[in-house]
Amino acid sequence: AKSEGRSTYHFFEAGMDAALQRRRAIETGLRAALETDALELVFQPLVGLDCNKIVAAEALLRWTHPEFGPISPVEFIPIAEESGLIRPIGVRVLEKAAKAAANWPAEIAVAVNLSSVQFARGDLVAQVAEALKCSGLESWRLELEITESLLLEDSAANLDTLHKLRDLGIRIAMDDFGTGYSALSYLRAFPFDKIKIDRAFMSDIATKSDSRAIVKAMIGLGTSLGMTTVAEGVETIEQLEVIRAEGCAQVQGYYFSPPVSAEAFAQMVASETIK
Ligand code: C2E
Ligand code: CA
Ligand code: CA
Ligand code: CA
Repeated sequence: AKSEGRSTYHFFEAGMDAALQRRRAIETGLRAALETDALELVFQPLVGLDCNKIVAAEALLRWTHPEFGPISPVEFIPIAEESGLIRPIGVRVLEKAAKAAANWPAEIAVAVNLSSVQFARGDLVAQVAEALKCSGLESWRLELEITESLLLEDSAANLDTLHKLRDLGIRIAMDDFGTGYSALSYLRAFPFDKIKIDRAFMSDIATKSDSRAIVKAMIGLGTSLGMTTVAEGVETIEQLEVIRAEGCAQVQGYYFSPPVSAEAFAQMVASETIK
């Protein structure tokens, strides 16, 4: 039994080691990717349900590690946040997204995800202003997506930053709406321009009346507060029909398009090829 315990311990230690090594390799890789400008953005359309046209796009990071291959932002963003690399990465994302959007063949908005770590220092407002200035993008065409954890962390300072961002003329969206614990009180704390209903709510809206009722309530809440409502993760025509019937303003999801390269997105806008 004793030797068994030992080997289990060693196995566990080796497992920890591999995870830690991967984490370190990702951090080192991210540092190099910043220097060689190897981080890319893809763009996923948001479709307006009143006009059936692309009205905006969300910029999403993509990165291929030289050794591990493509790595999901779900894995590398938390590592970037812990290591502080999210700050320079975030600046790069803002610059690239604004530059790409300024060159699109139609005046549609680009949405950029912000990490709460980017709020921790006082220079975010200046970084956003700089990205707008360098690209020539009009401020109303930039949307910043935040999650409620941001308001949870340091609400007074972060609220102040949000108001300053708002004063630049950009719009603020609450991302992943409905997944946190106190989303409703945050709707009162800050006048968001948009709420994005998390895709977790979409999976069974076409088959379960309870799920549909929840989404309906969220759309009604957002609408009555004067916010633009977006349904994320709509994959099927059945889901789309429910969302449309409940009066949601915009839809983002694989049904219309997955995220695509900057060039492919510009093409999509130019040719208005959306379902
Ligand atoms: P998010 O902000 O909630 O982004 C939406 C995610 O849902 C994207 O995953 C997108 O590809 C995926 N998605 C869109 N439509 C569908 C659908 O119909 N079905 C399904 N199953 N998924 C769909 P992605 O690109 O892997 O990004 C994951 C997360 O990584 C993002 O979630 C966001 O939190 C983070 N992220 C990505 N890019 C950035 C960035 O530039 N900065 C920061 N701070 N976070 C980022
Ligand atoms: Ca987002
Ligand atoms: Ca989301
Ligand atoms: Ca998310």
